[in-house]
This record gives sequence, structure tokens and C-alpha cells, in this order.
Amino acid sequence: MALDRTESVTVVGAGAWGLSTALHLINAGYTDVTVFDRASEIPSPYSGAYDLNKIIRAEYEDDFYTEFALEAIKRWKTPFWGANFHQVGYVLATSSAAPEKAVNHLQKALLSVKDHPVFAPGIVPLSGHDDFRNIYWQFPGPMTGFNGYLNRLAGYAHSSNTMADIYRHLSGRGIKFVLGPKEGEVVKLLYSTTRDLAQRRCTGVQLQSGKVYQARRTILCLGAWASTLIPDIGSFVVAKCWSVAHVRLTERECDYLRGIPVLNVRDLGFFFEPDPATKLLKLCPLGAGYVNTDKSTGTSLPPSESLETPTNYIPASDEEKLRRLLRETLPWLADRPFVEQKMCWFADTSDSDYCVDFVPNTGDSLVVLSGDSGHGFKMMPIVGEWVVRLLADGKQDLSRWRWKQVEGNGGKEWGDDVSWRIGTTKEIDEIAEEQDRMMKARL
Ligand SMILES: Cc1cc2nc3c(=O)[nH]c(=O)nc-3n(C[C@H](O)[C@H](O)[C@H](O)COP(=O)(O)OP(=O)(O)OC[C@H]3O[C@@H](n4cnc5c(N)ncnc54)[C@H](O)[C@@H]3O)c2cc1C
Repeated sequence: MALDRTESVTVVGAGAWGLSTALHLINAGYTDVTVFDRASEIPSPYSGAYDLNKIIRAEYEDDFYTEFALEAIKRWKTPFWGANFHQVGYVLATSSAAPEKAVNHLQKALLSVKDHPVFAPGIVPLSGHDDFRNIYWQFPGPMTGFNGYLNRLAGYAHSSNTMADIYRHLSGRGIKFVLGPKEGEVVKLLYSTTRDLAQRRCTGVQLQSGKVYQARRTILCLGAWASTLIPDIGSFVVAKCWSVAHVRLTERECDYLRGIPVLNVRDLGFFFEPDPATKLLKLCPLGAGYVNTDKSTGTSLPPSESLETPTNYIPASDEEKLRRLLRETLPWLADRPFVEQKMCWFADTSDSDYCVDFVPNTGDSLVVLSGDSGHGFKMMPIVGEWVVRLLADGKQDLSRWRWKQVEGNGGKEWGDDVSWRIGTTKEIDEIAEEQDRMMKARL
């Protein structure tokens, strides 16, 4: 059956994937697209991509994602996306203290690129302090036992600015945005009343204000909040968070560090070249992350207070990793106070695979994009194309991205087995207790 591109389409969530979806729907000729977000402005502070920058790299141990990421990088390098993309290069490394899993991951990552026809010309293996100093001439730190490689076909994108730009572009092309905690927050999905599940359809959404909004198709791009509207997805998608912190630099320091490749030390954390507008250098510790499991349902969701107040702290163990990373690289910053610290939420799956599919028992009326697993921003230029294809095909051909019906609480493993995750996932409550103990010890 021919697609009707005048049909009404609702996109819920205007984060990285929701904006991409709206963009590609309108590019494909859809004329009646409305986007809802609970945030009062875009970029939404609730989005996992509400941030200075995200790594854009295409090397995966798994060719499946490599191919998508290479295509995404091609788009990042076009005039439409390119103002926010900075191909400064990306160094993947381990320190002398790295556990075996981190070392193995590094070796596999290098194997996946060193003979690859696209990456190989831009790969530089790095072994020991002097090799690292050649790349990072500004770093006086000892970089003890650092090993790794530089990948020149990578870098970062300014993620908040990208979302702001796409929002402006879409607003100018007739996409309707309904924003804010009353009119923009969807609290319930509406379904047709039928006893026959095979005939059931999603008919629209109910907003916090009580109003309802009908649509032929509803596309959920809720990031960490997916299971608030479709609880069953909580069996294979969990809300998880990682820490983010910043160091404020002087203008001169910012200029000095301009152009450094993103440095990702697998057992410690990663940081980016400073942002020239804010003079902030962003750092993220690496680890398996934190979940917030509701014991009665087994589902992890971001704590409700994360909607009102920024948490403004990071766990002490994460701070320690970042201070070690700075001592190894930029020791003059190692004791400088961290600013704009936060816990940043995303949607994780145990195998790191995305979910881009119709929700079971809703026909072709309800689509969910979820499970970005902390590696979804780089795909922003192409995510919406996956949705347009799904609507045209009426089914998801890629088995890895299908809805996974898992009995009970299948997400218990929380993705710790994924090779690029080092450590064990913790409950966020444990961190609050750790933090309390630390505060008391400091008094
Ligand atoms: C610390 C951290 C580091 C990361 N680093 C990288 C990286 O280096 N490279 C990379 O590629 N990816 C990275 N990611 C992942 C990236 O941020 C996500 O893949 C991306 O944001 C997923 O987009 P999304 O649209 O699915 O979710 P989000 O961007 O989180 O957007 C979800 C949106 O849904 C809205 N919403 C939720 N519930 C409702 C509701 N009921 N009604 C209306 N609106 C609602 C929210 O306000 C939000 O705007 C990182 C993530 C984190 C947390």
C-alpha cells in the first residue's frame, strides 16, 4: 500500500533521536509532524545529549555499527551538520593500571581499524610516553604506561548546539513543536478500544495538561524515560547514568589546548579540547555506570528529582578517576575545582544494541527508538532515515534492532559484559550513601 505522507505523525521527545526523526520525516515529504517535549526549550536539559560535546568515532569491534557510524561521519562532514563537527582525531589508550578487559578492548579496537581501508591511512599506533607527547605536546604529565592509537577519522560534535541548530531548522520548515511541562509532557498513550490485541492501535497521546492529541502514528524517542510510557520495554532497556564534570580554564589555557584530539583512557576517562565559548574542558570518567531500580517493578528510571534539580555532584570514585587522569596528562589542572557536575541519563541495553521497531500489539501505529546505550549521538545525522525506512517497510529487517520480549527482568546484567564497559554497574542509592559518608568525613 502506498504511504500517505499527509498522515499525522507525533514524535514524543525532542532529544538527539527525536529531532533527527522529525528532520528525516520532513525530508521524506511528511507534511503533518508534531513534536512534543517536556522541556520548555530546545536543547532539552533532560536530553542525554544536553552537553558541550560527544565523541564521534566509527571504530567498533563490530562491523555492524562501524558501517552506520562511517555513514554518519560522512554526513557530519557536510555543510548542514559540519559547523558542529570537529575532526580533531581520537586517541584510545590504556594506562599502566588498566585491567585486562580494558587492554583486550584496546587491542580489539586497534585490530578493527588498522587494516580497514577507510581507517588505516589515519591510524597511528602509540606506545609509551614519547609517542603520546608527540601528539599531545601540551601535556607535561607522565602518561605512565600509556599505550594506544590515534584515529584521525574521528573527533567530537558540539551536541547541545547541534540540537539547537536542528530545532531552528525544523521550526522554519513547518514542524510544530509543543514544549514545556504542561503541554509538552506526554503522560499517557491512547489506544483504540478493542479486545483483539491484533487490532489494537495507538491513537495518540495525553498531555500533562489533560489535553489529548490524536495521531495516525506516534514515534517515541524518550531516551532514558522510555519505560514511563511503555513499561514492557523496561525488561530490556534500563535507564542508566554516567558522570560529567568540567574544569574552567582561562582564555590563554583554552587557546593553548586548542585542537587536541579527544583522549579516551579506557581505565580512567576521557576529555575533549576546551570549548572556546565557555572555556570549559569537559571530562567523563569511564565505568559501567549507575542505575536506579524500582524494587517493586525491577525497572530502572531516572530519579524524579533529576527533572527539577541538577544533581550537581559526581560520585567520589568518579572524581578520583578524573583527578588521576588529569595528574597523568595535565597535572596543573588536577586540583582545580570541578564545575557543572552532573549525572547524565541514557537508555542502556545488555548487548548495547539499539531498539528501532514497532511496539508489539499496536500494528504500525506506534514506533519506539530506544536503547541508545550511550553511543547514539554520533548517529544523529542518520537516525531519522531508519524510522522513515521502518514506516515504509512496515517491519524491522535488522533483527538486532527489533523489540526484544524478555521474560521477567532481563536487564539485570545491565550491560557489564559489553567489551568497552569497564567495571560493575551500581545502584545510584549506593552512591548517595558513599557521598554522605564522604561529606561527613570532610566535616
Ligand atoms: C554521559 C554521557 C556521555 C555520552 N557520550 C556519547 C558520545 O561520546 N558519543 C555518542 O555518540 N553518544 C554519547 N552519549 C549518548 C547520547 O547522548 C544518546 O545516545 C542520545 O542522547 C540519545 O538520544 P535520544 O533522543 O534517544 O534521547 P535523549 O537525547 O535523552 O532525549 C530524550 C528526550 O525525551 C524527552 N522526554 C522524556 N520523556 C518525555 C515525555 N514523557 N514527554 C515529552 N518529552 C519527554 C526529554 O526531555 C528529552 O529531550 C552519551 C550519553 C551520556 C549520558
